[in-house]
Amino acid sequence: MRCTSNRIRSSYNRAPCPSVVVNYSRDKEHVHYLSIFKLLHVLRTLSELLKIRTETQLQCSRITSSGSSDWRFRSHFPVWSTRLSLRNTVFQAEILALLKAVEHAVTLPTQQLTILVDNHASINSAANPKSHNSIARKIFKLLHSHPHIRVSWIKAHAGYIGNEEADRLTKEVAKTENFPETPLELPKPFIKTFLRQKMLATWQMAWDDGDTGRLIHNIIPKVSLQPINWTRNEILFFTGHGPFPSFLQRFNLAKTSFCSCGGIGTPIHYATVCLLTTSYHMAPPSQQHQPVWFRSVANNSASRRKIHNLLQFLQKETSHFRPDPN
Ligand SMILES: [Zn+2]
Repeated sequence: MRCTSNRIRSSYNRAPCPSVVVNYSRDKEHVHYLSIFKLLHVLRTLSELLKIRTETQLQCSRITSSGSSDWRFRSHFPVWSTRLSLRNTVFQAEILALLKAVEHAVTLPTQQLTILVDNHASINSAANPKSHNSIARKIFKLLHSHPHIRVSWIKAHAGYIGNEEADRLTKEVAKTENFPETPLELPKPFIKTFLRQKMLATWQMAWDDGDTGRLIHNIIPKVSLQPINWTRNEILFFTGHGPFPSFLQRFNLAKTSFCSCGGIGTPIHYATVCLLTTSYHMAPPSQQHQPVWFRSVANNSASRRKIHNLLQFLQKETSHFRPDPN
């Protein structure tokens, strides 16, 4: 298996004839060349065209067999064109173009033949028998079973006749619309991104419409996969699930929800107005601005430190914040 890989790589400097030059374009107006495969962008239409062309070099005009029904001829060049989905990647177009060139070369009379490609990634992938790309593995098998076919890299825009001709033809074809599309499996990064976005959207909807955790929803309205690095005391304060009489009384862990100072023992009471915690006070908000107050406290490191210390004090001196049972 390795010999084929070496064969592909070692054919770098050999003068190939006859040769097959692979080229594709992906847009229309302005020309943005991408190594051997040419990339053009269509700005005036919403959809980008991704066309793949395979052709023999000019000097190899004796190759005239198209080989398959979807190949067509343009003067003496057999040409194959298609369009891929916008979701497909440039690499997928490159590797598909190489596959088409190899498949075409297989149909030609057996003779020493080199496919010239000006893209390293597609060559390296096709030379790897364990490639994760199914098209690359298909190319490898074809090359392995047809040792007379070689793949070699050439520099783009270096004056190679076939490559330059491919450029010219690519620009021509890029102006043509309504090319038939070739369905190709979507790339993994696209699927991962798509699923992550879907999951986050579903999660966001559930978070927005939920009945619980509304205090935290007020502070963190947008779901994220990034953890919020709150300390335990900060969590106790912002959730309200801490040593607060208002919370403990809900579970019959305290006889009353009042603080020993007379106010209702809520988190904001201790952080702003309680007479027993004046060292940890922050400016009290008005009733309607309480949600904004919680958000600003959560987003301010100095305020969070004060909250952390307040909770430490509350936990240490719990008995002082309970009303005298007598
Ligand atoms: Zn109090």
